[in-house]
Amino acid sequence: MSFATDTDTLLHAAPEPSDSAWDKAVEQIIHAGRRMDQRGWVPATAGNLSVRLPDGRIAVTRSGGHKGFLTRQGVIEVGLDGASMRPEDRPSAETLLHCQIYARFPDAGAVLHGHSVASTVLSMTTAGSKLYLADYEVLKVFEGQTTHETRLAVPVFPNDQDIARLSRSVALSLDDMKAGYIIRGHGVYVWGPNMDTALARLEGLEFLLACELEQAKFRATVQGSGS
Ligand SMILES: [Zn+2]
Repeated sequence: MSFATDTDTLLHAAPEPSDSAWDKAVEQIIHAGRRMDQRGWVPATAGNLSVRLPDGRIAVTRSGGHKGFLTRQGVIEVGLDGASMRPEDRPSAETLLHCQIYARFPDAGAVLHGHSVASTVLSMTTAGSKLYLADYEVLKVFEGQTTHETRLAVPVFPNDQDIARLSRSVALSLDDMKAGYIIRGHGVYVWGPNMDTALARLEGLEFLLACELEQAKFRATVQGSGS
């Protein structure tokens, strides 16, 4: 009869290294992807979602793939420079915009980017470099807003396929974006200390943009019927 030594016991009993922090981040991304898909904010393979783990790792959606049908394999790890940690993983070029936010704000824990109808249409029909949201109760979802009696400016940047160049434009006003920002004809970026807050801010911003779009249509209808 042979008995297992202590060393054998250790070898055989050792569990697979668990990575519960990574698992939790992936779960949050999958859940948020489904939520964004249900709301129509990530059509086709649009959008990207990320979470920064407490140890500094960044989990982000892989390039391509539908955000409503994400699996564990749809989430990869990147460094603060936006480069993937494994050569076979291809991050989206827009990952750089996520990393820019993490680099600038040490307390940012999640970043969400979607392509909604409201952000796309409003940014294309507004000539200015800012969209203004005023007097909405939902404005209170954004940091530092304690009253609806306020006017919040959301910067609008020209779309650019050169993401490094786009990130340099964004960097200039990144410190003053309580409600995130919009890329013209493209979509929104929002962030927060954790996924729940980022998702609440995204929903708040998308609600307000949808209200603005409805108001614009209403005004056009009234003007049309009055002429
Ligand atoms: Zn995009």
